[in-house]
Amino acid sequence: MLNIVIFGAPGSGKGTQSEFIVEKYGINHVSTGDVLRGEMKNGTELGKIAKGYMDEGKLLPDDLIVDMLASKLDSFEGSKGVIFDGFPRTIAQAEALKKMLAARGQEVSVMLDLEVPEDELMVRLIKRGQETGRADDNEETIKNRLVVYHSQTAPVIDWYKNDGKYQHIDGVGSMERIFADICAAIDGLK
Ligand code: AMP
Repeated sequence: MLNIVIFGAPGSGKGTQSEFIVEKYGINHVSTGDVLRGEMKNGTELGKIAKGYMDEGKLLPDDLIVDMLASKLDSFEGSKGVIFDGFPRTIAQAEALKKMLAARGQEVSVMLDLEVPEDELMVRLIKRGQETGRADDNEETIKNRLVVYHSQTAPVIDWYKNDGKYQHIDGVGSMERIFADICAAIDGLK
């Protein structure tokens, strides 16, 4: 089983690299942000709750996200592995993921931390907002998301270092070079 956590600030390239990983390694992909955007589009109760948080660039409560993730994991029963994109974003979520996988006799294989400097993140997100119309890719919300990243999400880095799963990936450069570094990290796993 190949269970990969792809980690990094908003705009670090997690979604793009996840697509390459899915294609090469044939594992399932779950992006909590994509699931929430789907719920919003379908006008579900969860979608309505999510909108308020997402518009402000805030994280949804851990229990909501963890329940959502658990049902996704159940739907992947029998798969070769999973790439977790945009999850975990808090230490409580990292702990919940560890428990959820352990209950299935599994564990996280590696946490890939895509590092990109803040000024570059801002440029990428503004550009994505212009190109895709994604509602939370506007300057004010981006700033909030980066503050939330530093205060609530970045501590997850040390948590995975302590768990022996952390791998740094330089997230600046061509998509191909970044993907080659990711493949080297995955293929180097025992
Ligand atoms: P993303 O598409 O990963 O950038 O996520 C967009 C937004 O969805 C975030 O700013 C949060 O409001 C919400 N979100 C996504 N994943 C999580 C998570 N793991 N925990 C809490 N909120 C999340």
